[in-house]
Amino acid sequence: MSKKLGKYGLPLEVKYCKKCTMSNQRPSSEREFNSKKEAKKRIIEFDKEGVCSACKHNENKTLINWGDRESQLSELCDKYRKNDGTFDCIIPGSGGKDSVFAAHILKYKYNMNPLTITWPPNIYTDIGKRNFDVWLGSGFTNLTYHPNQKIHKLLTKYAFLNLGHPFQPFMLGQMNLAPKVSYEKKIPLVIYGENPAEYGSAIEENAVPTKDSSYYASDFQLDDIYLGGMCASEIVQKHNLNRSDLDAYLPANPYSLDENKTEVHYLGYYINWHPQEMYYYSVENTEFRPMAFRVEGSFSKYSSMDDKIDWLHWYTYFIKFGMGRATQDSSQEIRNGDITREEGVSLIRRFDGEFPEMYLDDCCEYMGISAETFHETIESFRTPHLWTKNNGKWALSNPIWSE
Ligand SMILES: [Zn+2]
Repeated sequence: MSKKLGKYGLPLEVKYCKKCTMSNQRPSSEREFNSKKEAKKRIIEFDKEGVCSACKHNENKTLINWGDRESQLSELCDKYRKNDGTFDCIIPGSGGKDSVFAAHILKYKYNMNPLTITWPPNIYTDIGKRNFDVWLGSGFTNLTYHPNQKIHKLLTKYAFLNLGHPFQPFMLGQMNLAPKVSYEKKIPLVIYGENPAEYGSAIEENAVPTKDSSYYASDFQLDDIYLGGMCASEIVQKHNLNRSDLDAYLPANPYSLDENKTEVHYLGYYINWHPQEMYYYSVENTEFRPMAFRVEGSFSKYSSMDDKIDWLHWYTYFIKFGMGRATQDSSQEIRNGDITREEGVSLIRRFDGEFPEMYLDDCCEYMGISAETFHETIESFRTPHLWTKNNGKWALSNPIWSE
């Protein structure tokens, strides 16, 4: 077995899951506030038969008694529901299909009183903004945290230049805002939709209903926190900032969480989560709409479509890990029985890693960088063991369709 590792600590030998289309180059979820430049990644696990941990998790799901799990959800709601009609749970989201489903089912089936909260996209797409508006229109109160745009743009630029990860500032707020609002508003129950660990984090993270607090809480000081690949205290000094300028990106306070008895749950633990079903539910029960055209880099029209930076995110992912949005989308749809592996492979061949033309100018303008800097940065993150140059053009050395 080859243990040789290349850039980012990725295995030099590229493999694809025997069941879905997932690549063994895919990194697992990170503690984003501690992500340093050039750091080695934790990678998705493959078993001896060459099956990825996301597929193993999916197999385990067929053994779950979902009726029991729904009873557990009812018990959880009974424990936290407030009979005076005040807010009793926090549903974080931006109005995508998952948050629409979660808020709707908790309010209308489980009789909860959800407060929806939003850490908004860096740059809304038109359809994203529209779906956000109709989400609230279906009967929800929302608290949106509008970050300081000067700082948000600055950190997005650093995250792109230093980590090749322009989505990081968004992900930081997405992780820590809900737990913080929980103790500030004294609403202990936070419920997310799907567990991202289902896509290939350590399998034990899927065996519990709650989210591991080390992803969103820490008593680290600014010297120990890294944002956009830079030490937070260095950013403060360099740009003459105050701690409050960075507050939205810092992890939640673990002592306040304990005091408030905050619990962060995943609905995906209690309800058999099938993304396409959540999409249908959202269309049937609210005015939620998909995109009129497929996203660049994939074939899908109904997921991760509200932030223009997401297009850039998946392109950088493709350059660094040799897999893009079509790999992610197809592997999920194969696991859920929506398409075959063969169809997945052909969709990857057609769409994966497509250049994010549509919103590129908007993203560069947002980060304050030139097209030249954009291209130089992209090249600096290209992983040598994944790419070969043929006649002046980069191509994957081991694409899934040449297996
Ligand atoms: Zn798999």
